Amino acid sequence: MKSILIIEDEKAIAELERDYLESHGFSVEIEGRGDIGLQKALEGSYDLIILDVMLPKLDGFEICRQIRQAINIPVLMVTAKKEDIDKIRGLGLGADDYMTKPFSPSELVARVKAHLARYERLTAGRSEGSHEQIRIRGLMIDKTSRRVTIHDKEAMLTSKEYDLLLLFAAHPNRVFEKEELFERIWGLDSNGDAATVTVHIRRLREKIEHDPSNPQYIETLWGVGYRFKV
Ligand code: CA
Repeated sequence: MKSILIIEDEKAIAELERDYLESHGFSVEIEGRGDIGLQKALEGSYDLIILDVMLPKLDGFEICRQIRQAINIPVLMVTAKKEDIDKIRGLGLGADDYMTKPFSPSELVARVKAHLARYERLTAGRSEGSHEQIRIRGLMIDKTSRRVTIHDKEAMLTSKEYDLLLLFAAHPNRVFEKEELFERIWGLDSNGDAATVTVHIRRLREKIEHDPSNPQYIETLWGVGYRFKV
């Protein structure tokens, strides 16, 4: 059974979310305080976190940032304020998705299922073949822990950056068009477009390339797309 942590201080909302998710076969825990929620997220073994933005003690932005630095599971942010959405996007917190309140519980369940399925798809490659790690020059991708190091120094990637890098590295020299990358990595999300890919590739390069303007790994083929050089 997949387990979900809801960090939400509005009891009625949290309970509504819980009831819906439980009726769809998920195991759910609720935490109303931000600081305790973060602690639980880091110490527990949840498959997904639903995270409110305005919380007592510690806000959702900071919680998301800290979760991302430590573990790689889907984080779905919820907020009552539309202006928070820009902040979630702009800060590059690494949230996998976001929803504005009020939303329908069935929409929430659909998104939760989509993100869990996506994570499973991305980690399913582990059992195919014996290579748990991909090593290309100074770059190492550990598929089991979803960690990336560059010359033995860990690169802190968001989940989307990791997914992109893994897709490239698993298909060296294959040319991907932006639209294809968007479809494969973001597929089920309704937000964003192919321009999102450009932004993520730029951030990814800043994290893995010695000189992002002269990339050694992800090469731009102008007017065509991108390719992972080996
Ligand atoms: Ca709140």
